[in-house]
Amino acid sequence: MKWIGFIAGLGMLILSCSTGLSDDTMIITNPEVIAQIDDSLKVVKTDEEWRNQLTDEEYRITRQKGTERAFTGAYWDNKEKGNYNCICCDNVLFSSDTKFKSGTGWPSFYQPAVAANVGEVVDRSYGMVRSEVICTRCDAHLGHVFNDGPEPTGLRYCINSASLKFEKEK
Ligand code: FE
Repeated sequence: MKWIGFIAGLGMLILSCSTGLSDDTMIITNPEVIAQIDDSLKVVKTDEEWRNQLTDEEYRITRQKGTERAFTGAYWDNKEKGNYNCICCDNVLFSSDTKFKSGTGWPSFYQPAVAANVGEVVDRSYGMVRSEVICTRCDAHLGHVFNDGPEPTGLRYCINSASLKFEKEK
């Protein structure tokens, strides 16, 4: 019986480690967003479809959780008025009204344009615990959110330009 207990314990340990560290486990942590997500509007495509639709850089960042090099993206210094939509599914994510100069080299916003369109997921990669930011319609990786942003929210959404498509205000 001791052996059974030992093996069961070992199994639980392996299971808890693997689930805790898996990048595939997508748990949205902001409750106001969970309440508003309409699953019937989800955009689900195969890997091949995403590869055909996106450039290599856009695919690497949005579908493989990549990061563009600082100061290289299209929008970190964009000061025009308009909306920033998801490059994958055109979901409205951020507005120029909440964009601010962070000095990081990535477009930075203090809040999403529509709360329900931007989800947060616990990211345990690279030995850190961070809040990954995703598009709730297509699950695209957008960037991360940190607690060192300006008022009124104190949040800094640090987003890859390659995840975004800017729609200039007309
Ligand atoms: Fe999307």
